[in-house]
Amino acid sequence: MFSFELIAQSIESRARAGVIRTSHGVVETPVFMPVGTRGSVKSVSPEELLAAGARIILGNTYHLYLRPGCDVISRFAGLHQFMHWDGPILTDSGGFQVFSLAKLAKISEEGVTFQSHLDGSSHLLTPGKVIDIQNCLGADIIMCLDDCIQYPATREESLAALEITTKWAQRCKQAWQETKNGRNALFGIVQGGMFRDLRERSAEELMKIDFPGYAVGGLSVGEPAEVMLEMADDTLPNLPETKPRYIMGVGTPENLIELVALGTDMFDCVLPTRNARNGQVFTQQGTLNICNAKYRHDTGPLEPDCACYTCQNYSRAYLRHLYMAKELLAYRLNTLHNVYFFLNLMRQVREAIVQDEFDRFRKQFYKRKSTKRRSSHEKKS
Ligand SMILES: [Zn+2]
Repeated sequence: MFSFELIAQSIESRARAGVIRTSHGVVETPVFMPVGTRGSVKSVSPEELLAAGARIILGNTYHLYLRPGCDVISRFAGLHQFMHWDGPILTDSGGFQVFSLAKLAKISEEGVTFQSHLDGSSHLLTPGKVIDIQNCLGADIIMCLDDCIQYPATREESLAALEITTKWAQRCKQAWQETKNGRNALFGIVQGGMFRDLRERSAEELMKIDFPGYAVGGLSVGEPAEVMLEMADDTLPNLPETKPRYIMGVGTPENLIELVALGTDMFDCVLPTRNARNGQVFTQQGTLNICNAKYRHDTGPLEPDCACYTCQNYSRAYLRHLYMAKELLAYRLNTLHNVYFFLNLMRQVREAIVQDEFDRFRKQFYKRKSTKRRSSHEKKS
């Protein structure tokens, strides 16, 4: 069971609000999906995620396939039961990790062979196999195998990756139809490097195959933010209005706002969780580093009007102390705030779209940030 319904559309931009229905629950879009790479969103529990407002999370096929393996997860009727998360789950196909983490990744029409980054063992991922693995994980939304190229890439490399991505997408669709069609949704992934016409061609080819949803891959791989937005600006209108559109692996709060304005419905990114573990905290006025000596005696919360568990109960001075002392609680509390920040931002964005006030919201979002820059400049002078 899977469906997508558009609820509201902004007049001034392409921003839109919708509802995704899956057999594990309803997801309101635009949505941010916290990343649970190895069957856990690092340092926080499913109950804490739910309390922070998470409605769908992401699992990584590459990591879960290598460890603990499908033989373990299949004993639990899938990832939901294994990790004790009852809401919707999206799994990626593993393609991105094969190219970024594994050793000796080799592409052929059949699939991609690689050596595990854990023990050097040899593996072959084919389109059929990634569908089998994701079916075993029991995800609600699953992704096609795609060829992720590095940045920068030549036109020839981008074209070759696009062509193989289309061929794999056809085989993924076929394997999906033969197995679990209807119980989960399979998304196609647009590639094409940083070339507008190739992105357009990729989108067209995928739409001919026809998927329940579409993702844009190969962005936020080192290109300047303007190029990323330009590619999204060109690609998104080429995808069907009636299907969810997902930009993979992006990004900062600013990126999210701009990509929503261009018509994106779904996001995932490790930024809030990874940066939390490095002591970087997101606030409406920009990021702050909790290690900074100026927070040593700061009795206030990370963000005064934040409703997250961390801000409701702890001071900047305490969080700085935990972080400096490398106490494990530091990672959990920083993560809870950052995850809440991203989820709450998307909630506010959605509310603004529904009220047809997205443009005003977007201007206010940037105004708050510039206020901080001005005030810190004044302090210096
Ligand atoms: Zn907070």
